[in-house]
Amino acid sequence: MTVNLLDFDADGLTAFFAGHGEKPFRAKQLLRWMHRFGEADFAAMTDIAKSLREKLGLCARITPPPLLSDRLSEDGTRKFLFDVGNGNAVETVFIPEDDRGTLCVSTQAGCALDCSFCSTGKQGFNRNLEVSEIIGQLWQANRALGVDPRGDRIISNVVMMGMGEPLANFENTVTALRLMLDDNAYGLSRRRVTVSTSGLIPAMDRLSDECAVALAVSLHAPNDALRDELVPINQKYPLRELMAACRRYLVKAPRDFVTFEYVMLDGVNDRDADARQLLALTRDVPCKFNLIPFNPFPGSPYKRSSSARIRQFAEILMAAGVVTTTRKTRGDDIDAACGQLAGQVKDKTRRVERRVINFHEAGKR
Ligand code: SAH
Ligand code: SF4
Repeated sequence: MTVNLLDFDADGLTAFFAGHGEKPFRAKQLLRWMHRFGEADFAAMTDIAKSLREKLGLCARITPPPLLSDRLSEDGTRKFLFDVGNGNAVETVFIPEDDRGTLCVSTQAGCALDCSFCSTGKQGFNRNLEVSEIIGQLWQANRALGVDPRGDRIISNVVMMGMGEPLANFENTVTALRLMLDDNAYGLSRRRVTVSTSGLIPAMDRLSDECAVALAVSLHAPNDALRDELVPINQKYPLRELMAACRRYLVKAPRDFVTFEYVMLDGVNDRDADARQLLALTRDVPCKFNLIPFNPFPGSPYKRSSSARIRQFAEILMAAGVVTTTRKTRGDDIDAACGQLAGQVKDKTRRVERRVINFHEAGKR
């Protein structure tokens, strides 16, 4: 079995080379070739001695998850679908904006936390992604998107908001985050990398110690009774403790606020009284709100709140001085909007096959 070098951050690669009697600077060289230049072929790494390149060719490989399809939405959002084996696929979404390009990355195939409004949750949990499968999404997207005319990378921000709960795949997520931050790899600042969590409190504390990046917390309800229903992990980690964990996180965080995500569900969590209760709940936590209009998926029991309702809800929060944005729904023509990623695994496999065929056919035209 050869070792996939995309599974290692700087420390891991240094240990790998030490095991082969090589000096630590080799790790730096390899990181640059793999992540800065997107190179997967040892033979092309010309500043590494030929004998070492040949040795690497025998015992190692650089293998990102294979790209199954690449679809472009009318609004410029681009969705990549990757094969992670056994009929499973994960999705990665690129969202271009005027001042930045954001890549939304998946961390698990499926998700065990079963939030009632989430398509990924409804498909159940399959497995954690390997580091090479997490960082491999960035690697592949960078390769597909290239650099802009000024020579800057097109992807300037990463959000761990795709499929899965990043903090339930802690080790692999953190190793991938370290690569995103490493100057020899992607060199992103901590402020430009965001982990979104449904509120796994012990893992939030660990993240703060080990790799404090920007934090988004999926709140979705102003009280425990409703949140227990919408985000079942709340039964284990209730709101009072979650608010305290957010305050602790801010001590080392690169930004001085937490972003609270709040999905707008018609008649469920979108009343004026809910907004007022939210303000009371979050009073002691420096925060911003990001309202997400619910994105329906087949079989989902909810409806999206009306635009007028969302506006009114946002106004109550803003009148109290809390910065509130409403997420634009983007990419829904290609099922790339929040919470729409990947339907049933079984259906999906069939869909994947169809898409791959379409993809190949499109290439022929
Ligand atoms: N598991 C993590 C990150 C992935 S989900 C988390 O829950 O935070 C990214 C965001 O999309 C979360 O805030 C999630 O609650 C939200 N989301 C899930 N399903 C959605 C849907 N159908 N419509 C709108 N947002 C949704
Ligand atoms: Fe999992 Fe996040 Fe979906 Fe909840 S919202 S089921 S934590 S991916």
